[in-house]
Amino acid sequence: MAVNLANYRQVLSTIEPYHARLVAVSKIKPVQDIRALYDAGQRIFGENYVQEMVDKENQLPKDIQWHFIGHLQSNKVKYIAPFVSMIHGVDSLKLLQEINKQAAKNGRVIDCLLQVFIATEETKFGLDEAELYGVLDGAKELQHVRIAGLMGMASNTDDEARIRAEFRTLKTLHAAVAEKYFAGSGTFKELSTGMSGDYPIALEEGSTLVRIGSLLFGARNYA
Ligand SMILES: *Cc1c(COP(=O)(O)O)cnc(C)c1O
Repeated sequence: MAVNLANYRQVLSTIEPYHARLVAVSKIKPVQDIRALYDAGQRIFGENYVQEMVDKENQLPKDIQWHFIGHLQSNKVKYIAPFVSMIHGVDSLKLLQEINKQAAKNGRVIDCLLQVFIATEETKFGLDEAELYGVLDGAKELQHVRIAGLMGMASNTDDEARIRAEFRTLKTLHAAVAEKYFAGSGTFKELSTGMSGDYPIALEEGSTLVRIGSLLFGARNYA
């Protein structure tokens, strides 16, 4: 069996005391693997590619909550707007405006997380602090998106102290934004941090949504 149910249970018991939720990252993996984890009780799945998510949504049970965690292009928002549950990687006002427009067309309000650049690598997407405040200002007039929190990816390194510091930076920023923009509303509560290699640290640093793929589904083979 391709899905590692022992790891699944281990992840669930690790996140449980933190009241965090698991996004099972199923990119590249077949629908049978998603079905196996669904049958074990998992309902939130994360995908990185629009066409792949649309295809899988068509073939799988309707009570799955699909989280888009990849880099989303504005011209593709329309394909996922009818069903997507949360979009994690929003990194521009232009993209947020397009999500708002497509959500309105579908009579929906779509939960979005703003992606912040926290790693010390060049390769990761995301907003810096000034850009983040720009997007938050622009988002005030958008009625069909709900800014539910922040998302970030730590550096790909073995240096735990560095990973922890990056997650902590994001948590501090999250608290500042919650106070300044969402005071009292309680709607800005999500912190999407942590992957297979670093999720225990992310949980200690306030993660509410861990995005875990290879621990559950095995290593990805892109060949
Ligand atoms: C692929 C991916 C994950 C899952 O990574 P693993 O190391 O397999 O757990 C999490 N977040 C994002 C944004 C991803 O692209």
